[in-house]
Amino acid sequence: MNHNTRKTRCPRGHLLEAPNLVTASAKRGLRACLVCHRARRAKNYYGWSDERFTCDANRRYRAMSLENSSTV
Ligand SMILES: [Zn+2]
Repeated sequence: MNHNTRKTRCPRGHLLEAPNLVTASAKRGLRACLVCHRARRAKNYYGWSDERFTCDANRRYRAMSLENSSTV
């Protein structure tokens, strides 16, 4: 029942650590992937395919350079 509480990555493998967190969700104790959140909004707006959405989310994630600054 608490299987999600310890997850540190989103379903697409992005680290769920600041700055890659949706602030509104974090305030409610939830961890939501910011790059996926933003890419999903663009997906809905432009009608992208899942593949296009994943590419955009990954590109946003790399631009954030989380992996380089992470202590994991
Ligand atoms: Zn993500």
